[in-house]
Amino acid sequence: MSGLKKKLLQLLFPPKCPFCRKILSGGEELMCAQCAEKLPYTDKKADAGSNFYSRCVSSLYYTAAVRKAMLAFKFYGRASYAACFGRLMADSITKKTEGSFDALTWVPLSRSRLRKRGYSQARLLAEAVGKELGYVPERLLDKPGNIRAQSKIHDSSQRRANVAGAYKTHPGAELTGKRILLIDDIVTTGATLAECAKIMLLAGADEVVCAVLCRGKKLR
Ligand SMILES: [Zn+2]
Repeated sequence: MSGLKKKLLQLLFPPKCPFCRKILSGGEELMCAQCAEKLPYTDKKADAGSNFYSRCVSSLYYTAAVRKAMLAFKFYGRASYAACFGRLMADSITKKTEGSFDALTWVPLSRSRLRKRGYSQARLLAEAVGKELGYVPERLLDKPGNIRAQSKIHDSSQRRANVAGAYKTHPGAELTGKRILLIDDIVTTGATLAECAKIMLLAGADEVVCAVLCRGKKLR
C-alpha cells in the first residue's frame, strides 16, 4: 500500500483501541495507553497445563471489556484487532515459555462455521502471533463436522464429551517429534485444547503448548 493511500485510509478509518474504542493518538500503537496499563493481565499461575498439553499461556482474563473486544473480533468483522491481540499473546508466550517451537498451528473451525463467519479467528491470531515471533502457521488439524458450541455448555464433563472425536489431523501434517504451539482465542475448561493436543500427541507430537488471548471463568 502506498504511503498516501495508507494516510487516506487512516483519515477515513482512524485506528481505534479494540478495548475502549478510543481513537488512537500519534504515539499509541494497536491499543490506547490507558488500556495497555489497566487490562486484566493474567499471571503465570493461571497458565497450568492438563493431561495433554504442558501449559496454556493466556494474556488476559475475560472481563466485560475484553469480552466486548473479542465479540467484535469474532462476530462483527473486526479482523483488524488480530494485530493487537497477536502482540499481547506473543508478549505472553515470550515471557512465560522457554525455548522454540517446531510448528505453530491453531484450533480449526468446521467448514460450515468458517463459511458462515468468513474467517477463522484462531487462524488470524496464529498468523499475528507468527508475525511477531517469526513462525509461519501450518494447518495441522481439521474439524470435519459441526458440534454444539462449547460456549452453550456449562458443565466441564459435558464439554469434554462434546468435543471428543471432533478433530483429526490434517492430511499430510507431519507431527512426529515436534514441539507444537497451539493457538485459540479463549480457554474456559480447556476441553477443546486438550482434545486437539491429544490428537496431535497420538499422531507423534512430542509436546503441545497452548496459547490463548483470554481465560474465561471456571465452570462447574
Ligand atoms: Zn483503550
